[in-house]
Amino acid sequence: MKFIDEYRDKDLIENLSSQINKSVIHDYTFMEVCGGHTAAIHRFGIPSLLSEKIRLISGPGCPVCVTGTDFIDKAVTYSEMEDVIITTFGDLVRVPGSASSLEKKRVKGADIRVVFSGLEALEIARANPDKKIIFLAIGFETTAPGTAVTVKQADKEDINNFFVLSAHKIMPPAMEAIVSEGVNIDGFICPGHVAAITGSSIFGFIPEKYKIGCVITGFEPTDLLQSILMLITQVNNSSPFVEIQYKRAVTVKGNTIAQKDLKEVFEPCDAIWRGFGVIPSSGLRLQNNYGKFNADIQVPVSIDYKEDDSRCICGEILRGMKTPEQCPLFANICVPENPVGACMVSNEGSCNTWYKYKIVR
Ligand code: SF4
Repeated sequence: MKFIDEYRDKDLIENLSSQINKSVIHDYTFMEVCGGHTAAIHRFGIPSLLSEKIRLISGPGCPVCVTGTDFIDKAVTYSEMEDVIITTFGDLVRVPGSASSLEKKRVKGADIRVVFSGLEALEIARANPDKKIIFLAIGFETTAPGTAVTVKQADKEDINNFFVLSAHKIMPPAMEAIVSEGVNIDGFICPGHVAAITGSSIFGFIPEKYKIGCVITGFEPTDLLQSILMLITQVNNSSPFVEIQYKRAVTVKGNTIAQKDLKEVFEPCDAIWRGFGVIPSSGLRLQNNYGKFNADIQVPVSIDYKEDDSRCICGEILRGMKTPEQCPLFANICVPENPVGACMVSNEGSCNTWYKYKIVR
């Protein structure tokens, strides 16, 4: 606890808050890209410590939220097959597809198991040789190395009933899609866990090309406040660059072993992001030499995709253009127990966070 307390020290928090508010000379809008940051910012009440001139908006960093309805529909279709066991991270079970959800299919008897890692899904494959085990692989550069290691292990053991349906994504193309769309952002609070794998350099194009500062940030209150102070200083000095606040986890080079696994198993591909549509080279698919584990190739299905509920504004929220309270369904029809859109499902989703912490603006 001592370690955490160090980052939640009341005097330090007050001191940082005071420094920030003394540094404010005009309005600032900063986007936190990571869903973990969205949750931490509101859990620790960070906005209440900041001048009203500082606006924090959420971005596309909740993996469950950005996973498209087409992926959910495909997973639901797989779950209807007699010889398939779906393995998935917990939150994904509750995300509505266009006609059903994995949760509803599970109630009707589909074999859908929540796992905490790809290796756990692989264990289910070993124990059920007469079934096809489909692992729903979602998440960014943080979780994709775990899938890569799992696929390498399956290959080593020559396991023939384990398949990956990949919706893994990489973060920089989505950030570029947002800034090139013209959303007014003065700085990015960049995802610390992603950068721990990739290294800080992946964000370098943002200050270079778009003149917007980036601070790679940890998840404790003093981390978040220090990052906001760093960003304000960059803006005030008109000197945007990539700065590492989360030095206890992030380096310029990142985790080169994880990067090597990623590169060996995956290759970039175009990917559908909820709210964005297709973003070129923003996804990760299995390389051809691991094609025997690719669910799309080995267990092909066609899906009857329907449009999402037109009243749900998840897409605009994920692009930093709207906030949850602007959705007509927020906190009345759409609540965590009955989510209409993906952003109300996950603990890292903006709508879920706003609902949980009763944010009113
Ligand atoms: S409140 Fe529900 S319906 Fe509205 S944007 Fe959020 S998830 Fe979508």
